[in-house]
Amino acid sequence: MPERIYNFSPGPSVLPYPVLQQAAKDIVNFNDKGIGLIELSHRSKEFMAVTEETEQLIRENMGIPTNYKVLFLQGGASSQFFMVPMNLLGPGKKATYLNTGVWSKKAIKEAKLFGQIEVAYSSEEVKFNRVPQAGEYSVDPGSEYLYFVSNNTIYGTQFQSFPVDKHPLLISDMSSDILSRPVDVSRFGLIFAGAQKNMGPAGVTVVIIREDLLERSPANIPTMLSYKTHSDNGSMFNTPPCFAIYCVGLVMKWLKENGGVAAMEKINNEKAELLYKAIDATDFYRGHAEKASRSKMNISFNLPTPELEKQFVAEATAVGLDGLKGHRSIGGCRASIYNAFPREGVVRLVEFMAEFAKKNG
Ligand SMILES: *Cc1c(COP(=O)(O)O)cnc(C)c1O
Repeated sequence: MPERIYNFSPGPSVLPYPVLQQAAKDIVNFNDKGIGLIELSHRSKEFMAVTEETEQLIRENMGIPTNYKVLFLQGGASSQFFMVPMNLLGPGKKATYLNTGVWSKKAIKEAKLFGQIEVAYSSEEVKFNRVPQAGEYSVDPGSEYLYFVSNNTIYGTQFQSFPVDKHPLLISDMSSDILSRPVDVSRFGLIFAGAQKNMGPAGVTVVIIREDLLERSPANIPTMLSYKTHSDNGSMFNTPPCFAIYCVGLVMKWLKENGGVAAMEKINNEKAELLYKAIDATDFYRGHAEKASRSKMNISFNLPTPELEKQFVAEATAVGLDGLKGHRSIGGCRASIYNAFPREGVVRLVEFMAEFAKKNG
């Protein structure tokens, strides 16, 4: 293995090294067939098998019930911001959204193009440093669905438990915490995630949709934007993002071999605890998120001044701790520690933080 830096990037983000090695080999010569993976027709027997296996592994790792479809789409997670209401919100109908950050705000903006959108909760006034606890909002019973972002990548907040509203339809953007902890998929109507945070490279968005909802897709929307089109055609209506799907398959294999989602949750808890302990140990560091809303995937924190933050990021980068600059909307620092991020990297960061605070505090 070449010397690797610790990659704290929020996305695209760190991938397991064995996945990179396998992909590098297969790009040139897939399964020793004398043809490169990215040269294969998407309708070839070989590539159809890749797609099928990737779907099976996602189903297995997430425990997806048989009455759900798994779709491989393009256009990023951001395209789901309009595909969800375009397909699932009938004319003149209402939907409820929880506004917990930039990604929900963008989804609300798109949804308003299609129906009446009720924002039942917003933490914008407190710089999105929290997600609502049960009982802090109510859902209009006339709503078609309740939409929320399970993990707010920028602010480092995460729903510790999912909304329990007796509501027929929960829809969640799980782009930055899918497969990081067990989720009871049967409680959801639709889950989506851009692959580039916790599942693979950029280029594919995984949509998990309850079968009966496919019938809601109106006939008068563009063919490519209908969930039904992609479901009816096994995500092969047009050329799918072959390489990204293949890589997601490799990550799913890696995840399964490493104990599955339950094992990921355990190590993710350990990694996050190490880092939050370091933040709480001194007044030098301040976590952005309220304690009850803290994310296990993205940990956003501040130093006493923007100058010190800049120096912190620069010195960390110089010793191989890369990608710690916070999102431009809130500044500060952020450590993204997805499934594939190694525990040793968190230990190294914690050591670096202690030294930096001692020197500059
Ligand atoms: C990154 C991110 C997105 C946007 O993903 P794209 O694939 O770039 O469109 C949406 N939602 C969440 C929660 C994200 O972290």
